[in-house]
Amino acid sequence: MPETSAARYVGRFAPSPTGPLHAGSLAAALASWLDARAHGGQWLLRIEDVDTPRCVPGADRIIIRQLADCGLLPQEAPLYQSQRAAHYQAALDQLVGHGRAYPCACSRQDIEVAVQIAGHGRTRGSELIYPGTCRCGLAGKPARSWRLRVSEFISNKPFDHEKRAQAAPDFISNNTVTWTDRALGEQSQNVHADVGDFVLKRADGLWAYQLAVVADDAAQGVTHIVRGADLADNSARQILLQRALRVPQPHYLHTPVVNGEDGKKLSKQNGAAAVDTSEPLLALQDAGTVLGIHLCEKGTSSWLAAAAAVWAARYVPRPA
Ligand code: GLU
Repeated sequence: MPETSAARYVGRFAPSPTGPLHAGSLAAALASWLDARAHGGQWLLRIEDVDTPRCVPGADRIIIRQLADCGLLPQEAPLYQSQRAAHYQAALDQLVGHGRAYPCACSRQDIEVAVQIAGHGRTRGSELIYPGTCRCGLAGKPARSWRLRVSEFISNKPFDHEKRAQAAPDFISNNTVTWTDRALGEQSQNVHADVGDFVLKRADGLWAYQLAVVADDAAQGVTHIVRGADLADNSARQILLQRALRVPQPHYLHTPVVNGEDGKKLSKQNGAAAVDTSEPLLALQDAGTVLGIHLCEKGTSSWLAAAAAVWAARYVPRPA
């Protein structure tokens, strides 16, 4: 049995059911399972079906079966984000009550125009960074979405100090969030400059991934997040939200992603093939290779036990 730690550990795998697991997502699932096992902790499964138009009916059941084939069994029944709207609304209400979230009337086109007028549009990939048009009010327009007030510093009106007094204390220096990833080391991001006031509830009425993931990790008592490195860039936003909601910050570990032949990350959107779990040992060996784990065990359970021992030696500090 791998070593255990007395501290409470809750880990999770949180797939979006946009298709079956592919080689990359099985490796991420395995990594989160191994970390939970190596800590003697709990491993939960959360089906992130919040972005309903992207979900594929039945994909959740296929994912659960693929995991079970490989011996990756959650300790509780899976949580479905589509059933948690009331929790997300409560989180948004809390942020609004503390002056940390505000309604936004801007369409994509409004943002493009505002950026052109300002003449100094900032982008993030192909996306324009929101210039803060509605930060000080809607100017009589109807609200479309809700955003996190990442910073009040570039507001052209003084921030409402009465509201400010009730708000969460300032927690991040110059909007730069710094945290330590257990695999990648120290990370930092200036969320104001690099991301801007990001969306919590979308104009189409759907809850944004950032709010749903933070609300659910807190509700499920998740202490350790282990997921693919393609998601590392979300961590600073999620840490800001955790602080704004006054919930504990989990530990983070981001694992290598798998690239397809075109050099791009495998994803269900770009048609990555479903991983074949009819021979679970082969599927686990391939997932292990992604994580740098090479073992000769001949059975699924012995492979998993040996992999957890490798993982523990690599990532779980021994008690002093
Ligand atoms: N649902 C996200 C995905 O499948 C993962 C979210 C997370 O692990 O934080 O990409």
